[in-house]
Amino acid sequence: AIKCGIVGLPNVGKSTLFNALTNAGIESANYPFCTIEPNVGVVPVPDAREQALAEIVNPERVMPATVDFMDIAGLVEGASKGEGLGNKFLANIRETDAIVQVVRCFENDDIVHVAGKVDPINDIEIINMELVFADQDSIDKAIQKVQRVAKSGDKEASARLALLQKIHAEIETGTLVRNIGLNEDELKEIQDLHLLTVKPMMYIANVNEDGFENNPLLDSVRELAEKQGAVVVAICASLEEEIAQLDDEDKADFLEEMGQDEPGLNRVIRAGYELLGLQTYFTAGVKEVRAWTVKKGATAPQAAGVIHTDFEKGFIRAEVTAYQDFVDNKGDAGAKAAGKQRLEGKEYIVQDGDVMHFRFNV
Ligand code: GDP
Repeated sequence: AIKCGIVGLPNVGKSTLFNALTNAGIESANYPFCTIEPNVGVVPVPDAREQALAEIVNPERVMPATVDFMDIAGLVEGASKGEGLGNKFLANIRETDAIVQVVRCFENDDIVHVAGKVDPINDIEIINMELVFADQDSIDKAIQKVQRVAKSGDKEASARLALLQKIHAEIETGTLVRNIGLNEDELKEIQDLHLLTVKPMMYIANVNEDGFENNPLLDSVRELAEKQGAVVVAICASLEEEIAQLDDEDKADFLEEMGQDEPGLNRVIRAGYELLGLQTYFTAGVKEVRAWTVKKGATAPQAAGVIHTDFEKGFIRAEVTAYQDFVDNKGDAGAKAAGKQRLEGKEYIVQDGDVMHFRFNV
């Protein structure tokens, strides 16, 4: 499953956001380190298309695509040197596919800020530097390891050493590895190091209810993110937590009152999906209508492999109907009759919303 790690300084609203996301109701208290164990919540990706498909197919159940969110506590200044919860958080971040960094953009005198004042740019710098320090460690170790072999004249080792040294020089100036501009081959070469700052990252600017506009703190985060080519999503985590606790009917009423058509959390989940370059395809049968997650650019066999690895190995072909064609023609039979169902082979690049049936050997 796709996993996003939620990081940020203490008291910025990580647990509040996590609670809202999972509606798990874990303790969110006003003191640092309140979430000591990493918590994982499985969060459905909001997508109205599943319901539209279900109305046509009448399946026994509807299964949305999901993203795992992991609440990662313990990232404080000096963490990479063993401060706070020490290096534990690093191991957790290493496991994730993307980093969601919560940044406090709300003032509230009752809620202490670990650095003494609300300054999102400074906060981001602290977090990012800890990640960079951790990567620096990994690079240093890798350099030591490859240096001896390179000295003996091994070409591959020399090339690796040169690449590692180039990265070392860049991150020494505080540059995140993802911003160095490494090409695909170079990224592949360093994959085994599981660097942290190579992962895609987005900022969640946590604002007060009235903090979405005319908020200099939010503006400053947006400005910094633009320079870094990073995404910013502004939400009010405490409000989202309240919304998440309502039942569906109350939720709809509440959102309508606020002039919104969906919870702000949906934007977080979708941004995460977008950040990772993901898209959705569907299977639609009488047993279930289900959304599956694949990378943009995935081939039909790779898409089949998300369901089961045997499907990928034994892939023969796929019957594919574009989402809109499926809906317009009220299902498989109609789409087929209208000539809108295609037979696609191994090379087919899956498009977002494709409704697919796979044929395979077992
Ligand atoms: P964590 O340490 O980053 O996990 O932070 P918490 O989620 O525990 O939040 C710290 C405190 O800030 C809690 O008392 C929250 O209720 C409060 N808080 C979180 N988000 C917001 C927000 O958007 N506005 C305001 N005013 N308070 C918030």
